[in-house]
Amino acid sequence: MTEAQEPKHEEGGRVRREKVRIQCNRCGEVYILRGRRNKSGEIETGFVQCICGNTDDFTITPLEPAVR
Ligand SMILES: [Zn+2]
Repeated sequence: MTEAQEPKHEEGGRVRREKVRIQCNRCGEVYILRGRRNKSGEIETGFVQCICGNTDDFTITPLEPAVR
């Protein structure tokens, strides 16, 4: 089973929106947000904190782009 597919598309250098799943490791709340990948490969979503006040203990999972 291979899951090493990295996005190789650099069409016009446009910023690609990506969905991420953010799960709070304290209360278990899950958020689905859209973010954009910055130059260092991190996805910025603007997400600040969970409803429980947690600001730094999350599991962040990138989601596959929606089917076109
Ligand atoms: Zn929480």
